[in-house]
Amino acid sequence: MRANTVLMSAGSLDAEHTMLLIVDMQNDFCKKEGALYSENSEKIIPSISRLLEVFREAGAPVGFTQDWHEPDDVEFGRWGPHCVEGSWGAEIVDELAPLEMELVFKKTRYSPFYDTDIHEHMLDLEIERAVVCGTLANVCVLHTACDMMMRGVDVVVPVEAVAALSDYDMGYALYHMGEVFTAHICSVDEIGLQ
Ligand SMILES: [Zn+2]
Repeated sequence: MRANTVLMSAGSLDAEHTMLLIVDMQNDFCKKEGALYSENSEKIIPSISRLLEVFREAGAPVGFTQDWHEPDDVEFGRWGPHCVEGSWGAEIVDELAPLEMELVFKKTRYSPFYDTDIHEHMLDLEIERAVVCGTLANVCVLHTACDMMMRGVDVVVPVEAVAALSDYDMGYALYHMGEVFTAHICSVDEIGLQ
């Protein structure tokens, strides 16, 4: 893993140009009754709540991705039905409910950079750095983070705010984001804004 001590000392992130992007924290992934529930996804809700507090307090931009599929989406061949548009399962969990002015990107694929206007919003907001968290680490978080980095955005990944189905998946995702794509892997406690 990269050493991030200098970049990530508390209060070092620029609130104006840093965005928090919360990936797919939806009922189908994070709640017991959900179609693709994982306890690991549920467990990270408090860590993401803390990040939300930090960003909201600083008035920094906050965005959410929301997996959002038609009932016959081709992705169901791999994962089974989940996050069907308009369903309870597709709703973002109550604990992390977006505020009215926060951005929500409904996506049909792993990355919101496919077929949503997230990039235009990030350019408008002059986002230089994004804290990316959510679930799953090796699927939607990974593809979202890598697509950001390919567009010149500096990505920070707080490990306690990211979930995977296994240690292997988590290790692979962190390695790929950190080493192949030079994301800054850190702890939630290291993230502060000024
Ligand atoms: Zn999906």
